[in-house]
Amino acid sequence: PIDSLVRKKVFISKKVLADETDILKNAEFFQTKPKKLNNDQKVSLDKIVESVKKNINLKPTYFWNNRKWQNRNLSKAIQKALALNKSAIMMVPEIALTSQTIERFRSRFKEKIAIIHHKRSSGEKTKEWENILSGKAKIVIGARSSIFAPIKDLGLIILDEEHDQSYKQTDEMPSYNAKHLAIMRAKFSNATVVLGSATPSIESYYNAINKKYTLNILSKRIGKSNLAQVKIINMKEEIKKSKSYFSNDLLEAIKQRHEKGEQTLIFLNRRGYNTSLHCLDCSYVFKCKHCDITLTYHKKENILSCHSCGFKTHTAQNCPECKSSEYIKYKGFGTEHIQSALHAIFPNIKTIRIDRDTTTQKHSHETLFKQFKSGKADVLIGTQMIVKGLHFPSVTLVGILNTDGALNIPDFRSSETVFQLVTQACGRAGRSTLPGEVIIQSYMPENDTIKLASHQDYLSFYKTEIENRKLFGYPPFTQMAKIVIASQDEKKAGHYANFFRDKLIKNLTSGYKIHPVLPSGRAKVKDVFRFQFLIRGKNMPLLSSILDKVK
Ligand SMILES: [Zn+2]
Ligand SMILES: [Zn+2]
Ligand SMILES: [Zn+2]
Repeated sequence: PIDSLVRKKVFISKKVLADETDILKNAEFFQTKPKKLNNDQKVSLDKIVESVKKNINLKPTYFWNNRKWQNRNLSKAIQKALALNKSAIMMVPEIALTSQTIERFRSRFKEKIAIIHHKRSSGEKTKEWENILSGKAKIVIGARSSIFAPIKDLGLIILDEEHDQSYKQTDEMPSYNAKHLAIMRAKFSNATVVLGSATPSIESYYNAINKKYTLNILSKRIGKSNLAQVKIINMKEEIKKSKSYFSNDLLEAIKQRHEKGEQTLIFLNRRGYNTSLHCLDCSYVFKCKHCDITLTYHKKENILSCHSCGFKTHTAQNCPECKSSEYIKYKGFGTEHIQSALHAIFPNIKTIRIDRDTTTQKHSHETLFKQFKSGKADVLIGTQMIVKGLHFPSVTLVGILNTDGALNIPDFRSSETVFQLVTQACGRAGRSTLPGEVIIQSYMPENDTIKLASHQDYLSFYKTEIENRKLFGYPPFTQMAKIVIASQDEKKAGHYANFFRDKLIKNLTSGYKIHPVLPSGRAKVKDVFRFQFLIRGKNMPLLSSILDKVK
């Protein structure tokens, strides 16, 4: 079938030389000992193994788990599948952040593991695909695209951190959700699907309690597995006392950790030094000339850069609009700024920063994480890369700066995203024998999402959120499609979006709500203008067949 698709030019056939280099050949592997399971864990694991053995596709199994459970059990389940001569796909949100898991797998399995993700060179990818096709690799670990791996005798598909939005590909064609594909692929191949997360997505938890998935709640103290003390600092008050980015409590706590030889994480989901440059005289904002996005100031390189298309330009002394030079001001702070601000306050405290700017080279994540873990720095500063997944036994303090900004993003999932990030960040503190502390600096200290996340109270958050979704008709109560019309000609894009929308309205059966056409959240990217409208309804397969007809 692939050949005919190539002939029809749906696919383009390309010859790529296989590349023998191994992504992890420089990583150190240590033999890890499998740990004992408790009774609940054993029962749920047995159920999975049973369905793999019988070669039947059951409802997806959902594990609301904690990290520890996950680490222990996923590899056990795979082990059993292999023993039954089945192969397995294990999906993770971001492979670069999964080095610890991969190390564990490598040390435990003699079988070849294929690792697939989009950042690998085409030579590396080809090599891995050959290993999968020939049956040499029985385990595939990868990001969303690994769901397409041509593996034979598939018995088990695991989707780890199921809530992560990177499982969805929307900015590139083909547009797909790897979670849905996993469930479909399992159905076709009579395989078993396991979904898991410590902070389930609202839709998945809804499916789980409505019996679309088999729900397993795996820890008696789910979400409370760490006993971190959480404090929310009201930054509106704090900013009156000092002009610092850090509250006094956070500074004091960092100092104490340093004296005790313990480590700190500081999480801020914005990189760069300043997030924008303004003229206060005429209120001009420096934006990318290709995108409708403010430019970020990077101090080390002394440039303004666009985080969407990579465009770089010199910083300016004068306003291009009013030529004033007195009122050019930088605003907003990112991780680079936080790092130098902390150095200015505590010259003796060593820091490591992990964000997209410090990890441009291959393996730089692993190197930096290892340096921090081995104690080469006292404080790790970073974007969401540092809160996803990794385990640092000596971290006893987590500082969370300005996560609440993301609550203002006009997206019905923004509360969910913030809840997950804050919960995950809180979970980084005191995960071993040392007690942990979390300090959340917030400009919205009364916000429910922040408060519930600080208590790691998923169920209350779910109850509030599902009510809102119901009230406003958002998923899981309806399905939603976003139609994006893009063109280098702004007028054309807008016109066509409206034209297409009108045509659609004429062809659509009742039961759909079509929103008005608006410029996209990022209205201009790489010189292309984008307009969009949303469609909500209950029958998306029907919608997509109508879309096919209308376009
Ligand atoms: Zn940058
Ligand atoms: Zn100006
Ligand atoms: Zn740009």
